[in-house]
Amino acid sequence: MSHDLSRYHRQMLLPGFGEEGQRRLLESSAVILGCGALGCVVADILARAGVGHLILIDRDFIEMTNLQRQVLFDERDVLDAIPKAEAAKRRIANINSDVRVTAIVDDINHTNIERYAQGADILVDGLDNFETRYLANDLAVESGRPYVYGAAVGTTGMAFAVMPHCSGDRPWASTDAGNLATPCFRCLFEEAPPPGSSATCDTVGVIAPAVAIVANFQSAEALKILTGNYQHVNRCLLNIDLWANEFMQLKVSNAYEKGDCPCCKHRKFEFLDGAAGSSAATLCGRNAVQLRHKQQSGDVDLDALATRLRRHGEVKVNEFMLRTEIAESHKAYEITLFRDGRAIVKGTDDPGIARSIYAKFVGT
Ligand SMILES: [Zn+2]
Repeated sequence: MSHDLSRYHRQMLLPGFGEEGQRRLLESSAVILGCGALGCVVADILARAGVGHLILIDRDFIEMTNLQRQVLFDERDVLDAIPKAEAAKRRIANINSDVRVTAIVDDINHTNIERYAQGADILVDGLDNFETRYLANDLAVESGRPYVYGAAVGTTGMAFAVMPHCSGDRPWASTDAGNLATPCFRCLFEEAPPPGSSATCDTVGVIAPAVAIVANFQSAEALKILTGNYQHVNRCLLNIDLWANEFMQLKVSNAYEKGDCPCCKHRKFEFLDGAAGSSAATLCGRNAVQLRHKQQSGDVDLDALATRLRRHGEVKVNEFMLRTEIAESHKAYEITLFRDGRAIVKGTDDPGIARSIYAKFVGT
């Protein structure tokens, strides 16, 4: 396929980019996991840069409270009740018609991620929970593809590009280039914090600049990787706090050698094969879904979570469980969370919706 490359002139001027880099981009494919605040910025930049095929996966619809930071969407999308992936696809069609976009409206889980990410050269993280990040990382390591982690909450953010250890046929892992493979996400974060212990954007808030910095960093790493500039990929874990004015680059490159990672060292893909993560069961006749973690790390601090959730409404809590009502997409849900992390989400029989509500308001 021949393209008029003139629109990409300014980036082709850069060393290490050029016409060859541009052609590589146009022939490449990226899967963006989640089309929230991070995913919007990454999709916008990669589309403008001319990444030939973008696969956008997100199960949510656009809410008015998303518009403060989710830059591909507008008020019309909220009124029209368009799913995020589809709205992003329509917007990108007006930005760069060279780019093919596949919009997938679905919950990402171990039964579908391989299929949805088929053919993608890179996986970019726009996710909101640890479990799906471990799943994406498993797939990246298993299939020898880069995965660019990013996360933002409150005024803080983190990002890191994983170029997984794998056989020498991957350009970053070949010995000619000096092995440029990095630790994986699980080398850096051995296990997810207990449910309810981490802040989420829906419980403590988030400012758009924190998201934008992380997503721009992710986009830069993706462009380096897709144009073959592996030697320029940042080897540090980016850690920022815009309120504390901290910009830290944490040296993590020895995490692979020092650690004993089940994923990239032992090639056990527990999240991808479904042995780890959470299970969801629809409770018959109750319009409710039960979520349960297969491996639970520590008890939930119900009181701390109750304090955060009281900003949304009334919360009942005792030594055994917490219960609250959440309004989302003009619907009401009731979450009951037990000390061992098990949860019942009432108001839906769709496991995907229940997982989404859990990730936003309880957090993993
Ligand atoms: Zn690892």
